[in-house]
Amino acid sequence: MKLAKRVSQLSSSPTMVVAAEAARLKAEGKPIIDFSVGEPDFHTPENIKAKGHDAIAKNFTKYPPAGGINDLREAVALKYKTQYGVDYSMAEVAISCGAKHTLFNLAFVLFEEGDEVLLPVPYWVTFPEQVKLVGATPVEVLTHEKDNFILRAAALQEKVTSRTKAIIVNSPNNPTGAVIPRDEMARIVDFAVANNLWIIFDECYEYFVFDGNVHTSLPSFADKARHLSIIVNTASKTYAMTGWRIGYLVAPKPVVKAVNDVQSHSANAATISQKAAVESILGAQDSVRAMIAEYEQRRKYVVGKLNSIPGLTCANPGGAFYAFPNVSSFFKGNIQNSIDFCSALLRQAGVAVVPGSAFGQEGHVRISFATSMENLRTGLDRMESALPKM
Ligand code: PLP
Repeated sequence: MKLAKRVSQLSSSPTMVVAAEAARLKAEGKPIIDFSVGEPDFHTPENIKAKGHDAIAKNFTKYPPAGGINDLREAVALKYKTQYGVDYSMAEVAISCGAKHTLFNLAFVLFEEGDEVLLPVPYWVTFPEQVKLVGATPVEVLTHEKDNFILRAAALQEKVTSRTKAIIVNSPNNPTGAVIPRDEMARIVDFAVANNLWIIFDECYEYFVFDGNVHTSLPSFADKARHLSIIVNTASKTYAMTGWRIGYLVAPKPVVKAVNDVQSHSANAATISQKAAVESILGAQDSVRAMIAEYEQRRKYVVGKLNSIPGLTCANPGGAFYAFPNVSSFFKGNIQNSIDFCSALLRQAGVAVVPGSAFGQEGHVRISFATSMENLRTGLDRMESALPKM
């Protein structure tokens, strides 16, 4: 039995080795502290859940339109109008089953064999795989630790060829927390316009910005780049709605139409989840503010503690809910790379973190602080005791 060639090119995630080992130890009843999950530990706010219940009670349980229900598409358009003063119509919005699905649809409708897609490193693990799945080639663009992993237009310029079709930009960034400053975003947009490239802008962590960093979104450059701008967003992170599976894009109408056509023959988001997501955007935002304040506190603690452990250095993440410390000083003997480091940390400290190589960046690991302060204290104390012996 043969599978399609495109599947054989999919990399099985290097995170799986450590994740499988962590799952095994947990199943054995070992008290593993898990910093590997990129999912809010909060529950979905009550006002949003209530709208989900309401949707069921009112029998909003039939097939939704392929591109999403009108109220949600209008709510998304209104959000971008309110935040950036740019008029979008619901014909420029498509709703999908989470941003991962949105991004997959985009890869499917935009890329084909021979296309190159500029992908800043470190990247969220799914980006390169989706590009490869549709036969296109991800082209890595380096960012640097000493520059807080900020994507620079000059680095994009070095990798552009006549085959380049798009750039994937993620700010605030998973895994580094890097927030691209406004002046650099302006240069990136100018670069895309000059080279006629799609800008796929993943802003799933848009509200999680700290320390006076300001998130700059693409509509800010609508006057020159609207025809190339594709904004990707999700209810998952901001509203702790990972399981509801609601993501969306804001893009030129032909892109939206193509995505809707694909969805009409594949999958689209559940009606009930869409009704709840309308409330997430239009309803009270105090629970979001409370979650952000909590992340901010955790981030301060985590970064401070990591930097106090000999051998570790950690840049201050400007946003998102991840720290990305450099662990390369521990690479000796049996530990030669970030996967070895994560395996040893799991065995010796019972702490699960994600190897940097999963994100294309050796020498680092990703620690999610989307977990309780209690877990963070216990896990980091364990690391502090275990690392000198590793
Ligand atoms: N984009 C980035 C950068 C992410 O980190 C994630 C989730 O980890 C997603 C997209 C996918 O989010 P969703 O739950 O909406 O599929």
